[in-house]
Amino acid sequence: PARFILVLTISLLVSRAALQRRRSEETLLSLNAMLDHRVHERTADLRLANEALRKSEARLSAQAEELARSNTDLAHFAYIASHDLQEPLRMIGIYVELLERKLRAETEPESRKYMGFILEGVRRMERLVLDLLAYSRIIHEQTPSTEVIPLSEAVRSALKNLEPVINETGSVIEVGDLPTVNGNRSQLIQVFQNLLGNALKYRSGATPHIVVSATRAGENSWTIAVNDNGIGIKPQYHQSIFAPFKRLHSHEYSGTGIGLAICKRIVERRGGRIWVESELGNGSTFSFTLPDVPEPNHTPTTV
Ligand code: ADP
Repeated sequence: PARFILVLTISLLVSRAALQRRRSEETLLSLNAMLDHRVHERTADLRLANEALRKSEARLSAQAEELARSNTDLAHFAYIASHDLQEPLRMIGIYVELLERKLRAETEPESRKYMGFILEGVRRMERLVLDLLAYSRIIHEQTPSTEVIPLSEAVRSALKNLEPVINETGSVIEVGDLPTVNGNRSQLIQVFQNLLGNALKYRSGATPHIVVSATRAGENSWTIAVNDNGIGIKPQYHQSIFAPFKRLHSHEYSGTGIGLAICKRIVERRGGRIWVESELGNGSTFSFTLPDVPEPNHTPTTV
């Protein structure tokens, strides 16, 4: 009987162990199934998310393409419009001027006054069309050519072009040490001419005092600043004055409102930025950044 009991106990133990193993196997299987199910669920979620991402990427790139195309069309349109407007405008100007001369002696003052207004309008429109053309030329430009330009030369050329107004106003212009940068000569002259021209134009009662200076903006670029003691600009206009045709003064000062937009375009095409710091009545500082020329030992050499 003792043997019988032993055998019985052993077989009981064996069957319990087998039962436990079966249970563990079952638990493992069900855990595996659950895991499998979760993995499937996650994979499906991921696939859906990927699909949505791909679709939105495709939509975005189609929109970017469309935007680029419509920008090019718009720039092209502005160019054609301004270019083709020049000719008829020139003709109107010439004939109104001839008519005005011919009728000067005969017509009464009122008609002469009207003729003067027409002529003034034509001249203003000519300036606008020319400026629009200059702006759209810069927008149109595919890849701006790059030369190594000592900025002091660009400032000198701009000052030469502004000589009459500098002499007339007795302005004092200080030019500090300026670096050599990568850029396009005529565009850099244009930037300085617009900024210096504005500093002279928007002068206060005091004799204009203008300072051009440069400081390092980081390892590879410079900040160039044009500071004046002119009428200044209210902070709420510090951004908008860089938009094409935005002017704060329409009659007291001549201009078309395109100069700063041209500067912005030129600077941004070079990867730089332009901004103003100013307060009304307290002068203005226009600053822009420009990339440095690579150091000679960084320039790739050809053997
Ligand atoms: P424009 O001089 O032909 O009006 P800009 O684009 O050069 O066009 O300038 C836009 C406006 O910004 C000007 O009409 C003027 O109101 C303001 N502005 C530009 N430069 C200065 C300055 N140095 N001082 C004060 N106001 C300025």
